[in-house]
Amino acid sequence: MTKRAFIKSYGCQMNVYDAQRMAGQLEAAGYAVTDDAEGADLVLLNTCHIREKAAEKVYSELGRWKDARGASGERTIVGVAGCVAQAEGAEIIARAPRVDFVVGPQAYHRLPSLIDGASRGEKPVDTDFPAEDKFDHLAKPTRRAIAARGVTAFLTVQEGCDKFCAFCVVPYTRGAEVSRPVDAVVDEARALVDAGVREITLLGQNVNAYHGADAGGAVGLAGLVRRLAAIEGLARIRYTTSHPNDMTVDLLDAHRDEEKLMPYLHLPVQAGADRILKAMNRKHTAADYLRLIEAIRAARPDMALSGDFIVGFPGETDADFEATLALVREVGYASAYSFKYSPRPGTPAAGSTDQVSEAVKSERLQRLQSLLSEQSAVFNRAQVGRTLPVLVEKAGRREGQRVGRSPYLQPVHIPESAGAVGEIVDVHVHASEGNSLFGDVPRRDAQPDRAARSAAA
Ligand code: SAM
Ligand code: SF4
Repeated sequence: MTKRAFIKSYGCQMNVYDAQRMAGQLEAAGYAVTDDAEGADLVLLNTCHIREKAAEKVYSELGRWKDARGASGERTIVGVAGCVAQAEGAEIIARAPRVDFVVGPQAYHRLPSLIDGASRGEKPVDTDFPAEDKFDHLAKPTRRAIAARGVTAFLTVQEGCDKFCAFCVVPYTRGAEVSRPVDAVVDEARALVDAGVREITLLGQNVNAYHGADAGGAVGLAGLVRRLAAIEGLARIRYTTSHPNDMTVDLLDAHRDEEKLMPYLHLPVQAGADRILKAMNRKHTAADYLRLIEAIRAARPDMALSGDFIVGFPGETDADFEATLALVREVGYASAYSFKYSPRPGTPAAGSTDQVSEAVKSERLQRLQSLLSEQSAVFNRAQVGRTLPVLVEKAGRREGQRVGRSPYLQPVHIPESAGAVGEIVDVHVHASEGNSLFGDVPRRDAQPDRAARSAAA
């Protein structure tokens, strides 16, 4: 009987992508990967360490697998992967003895041998940073795995980080910045497109620091985007997450010239006060960021901007927080993520004696989030009355409805008759509600909005 494996992913999109690659690895090792945890022979928790509660959730989740048995009646093998695995290593097995193996993000290509060791009761822990590129050794995503994802896909092109922001564990859990070779990325993108994918989101902790190479020499993210844009059948390209200091002129040019590159940019600033940015080791000021936003908008006037914010970083005063609100007002975000500062063991800021109280963090977060959601509602409402090219992604939750995405990443709900999954259709937006837009195909004589039209493939 084929053994069954269940993978549960927490955290970022890179973890989602890693889970797909691990699924390919497990399938190659003879497992059927299932969405149903019940009766799984192998359970793999793909963890996130970016904020405190994420790690705690993993420990409570591990309790659920205490007496679990696989379909074969044998005891379920439980593995922990991801950034908690990397950060805590053997500690996980000490704290949760039910765990059979621990694997860090740079060792996924060794998954089959770790599972073998675990089934012999060895409790292996592999958190090494190998010299070789793990992607060269991981199984390619199978057509079935790609098809299960639908018409959009993630593709990791860069991993790790050399920036060492004072609050962040990523440089420790994911290691130094490494870029995948251009040809490997292009090959994987072609395979995705051959399997029906129409939109690819390039992933990296600092994706715009991408530095690959091809026969012609060094290739940055803009060059990679241009190579990918030449793939017939690929309609849309996105990338995330970017660091302000790695936003090159070449990339802005690509946003101006390359129709397949969507007008949506996730560009975290974290805070609006220069003294906090300095303490965070961000190496840019608020004015640098605002100048960059101006340049981005000059290249692509309809760019939808998104960001990340941390409130209550050690030493943040009321005035510092007001500076964050002022920066948000000046930029006008289409969407954004905001978090309370969470001290991460081993990071410089965690040892600061100037921690901000929970109550103050909560109050600031609530104020920031209400401003950000107001801005997001304004951005969404501004689309009402426009005709936008929408990539139809899947069936909607309601009978007779489909859901797609605008160029600006908003979910757009349309009638089933408006277009088939995988098609890009011109949708007349007639309403916005929460984060979503609602629309229909316009009358034949209606002219699509020009700016958005040029963003379509
Ligand atoms: N590389 C990206 C950048 O430079 O902005 C972000 C990567 S990080 C995985 C995603 C977001 O998590 C960060 O932008 C930050 O806002 C948030 N984050 C990271 N460490 C945090 C911490 N200790 N407490 C709260 N939020 C944190
Ligand atoms: Fe973390 Fe991003 Fe800073 Fe790197 S640049 S340390 S991933 S927040």
